[in-house]
Amino acid sequence: MISSFAPNSAMKHAALWVILMAMPVRSASAPHNHRSLGSSSNFADIPEVRSALSWFAHNLPWINEQQVRLTEIPAPPFQEAQRAAAVKLLLASSGLEVQIDKTGNVIGELPGATEKEIVFLSAHLDTVFPPSTEIKVRREGDRLLAPGISDNGTGLAALIAIARAFHEAHLRPRRTICFVADVGEEGEGNLRGMRALVEAYKPKLKSVIVLDGSGTDHVTTKALASRRLEATITGPGGHSWSDFGMPNPIDAVVRASVRFINTRVPPAPRTTFNIGQIEGGTSVNSIPYEAKIKVDIRSENEGELAKLESALRECIAAGVRDEMEASRDRSKGKLEWKVELLGSRPGGELPANSALLAALRSADEYLGNQSRVERSSTDANIPLSHGIDAISIGAGGNGGGAHSLQEWYEPTGREMGLKRALLTLLGASGIAEEKAR
Ligand SMILES: [Zn+2]
Repeated sequence: MISSFAPNSAMKHAALWVILMAMPVRSASAPHNHRSLGSSSNFADIPEVRSALSWFAHNLPWINEQQVRLTEIPAPPFQEAQRAAAVKLLLASSGLEVQIDKTGNVIGELPGATEKEIVFLSAHLDTVFPPSTEIKVRREGDRLLAPGISDNGTGLAALIAIARAFHEAHLRPRRTICFVADVGEEGEGNLRGMRALVEAYKPKLKSVIVLDGSGTDHVTTKALASRRLEATITGPGGHSWSDFGMPNPIDAVVRASVRFINTRVPPAPRTTFNIGQIEGGTSVNSIPYEAKIKVDIRSENEGELAKLESALRECIAAGVRDEMEASRDRSKGKLEWKVELLGSRPGGELPANSALLAALRSADEYLGNQSRVERSSTDANIPLSHGIDAISIGAGGNGGGAHSLQEWYEPTGREMGLKRALLTLLGASGIAEEKAR
């Protein structure tokens, strides 16, 4: 702080508030303004903020309990409704007006001094685990074990806890905050929850803070673009002996795959491919009528991604051509092929001088935390691809074994993650003026 004299506490807060309110909000006309809405050390002078921050320490057992309870409600892909209903009740009990939209997202609104601008704090509801997975949280000392306990039990527990801390501390934001538990983040959910939310709120949406998993060691500011494709080759099919020489879809897939895996990809921007599934045929003595591969491609650059998708299409076409040319008897029919897009996650990047990143850095500095910038594929991909400021962060504590049956979480140190998320959120939303006095 800049005061060289020693004002009384009320004066100090008033002076602080003048400084905060004089800071311009980052607007569409000035997308690269370097200044944030306020820094964490400034916020921490405000009694309501102090009270919200200290709420966490007094309620850690309750927060852990909510995490266990929500984790034990199954939320397989496309079946998040039961868990959504439980989150809705918890957010409503923190004084929020809560609705579930037609996509299945839970949205709890905390009206700000201005409702023309909105900030999201979000955590995804869904897990990767199929409905048959047994989910019962086990305890080994401090450690909690269950599929989905960290990803995204930690994020959901933090979402609930931060909403509750705002409520208990009577903390009112300047911009409206939507506490969001969204569907379809994992795999073939293809980010459909966040897509619908950004579509609905886009004109007012200023920032998105995604809580995903555990830890405080990173901040995802770069969205990894990816596409998932399925290539299918079909033919007439026949008998291995009597129809010998007929074109074979599995042979064609093999020929195409060999071509594709020889495609050169640049080390920078990093670009990757993976043939993750292969299927086809019905028996060893039949010429198959169908063969398929599923391919995942990713890149730091949309252009490279588009090039790689074209390469896959060219290789499939060439594999079919090679097989037709090699077939001994072309009178017995020909092969058809298609490549379909199963999912696509757009890329994007938060500008290094964004107000949202400044808010996170300020929270880290205040808490004595260090975090590195990461590129990854999360719900933040969607707002980032629309040019809306977004980050994805862990919600504190330690976790591991994500997407496996051995997944675990240790709440030790979770308070730091909760404070970090709350202060970053306040940096993005600001605080209503009357609450500063
Ligand atoms: Zn996750």
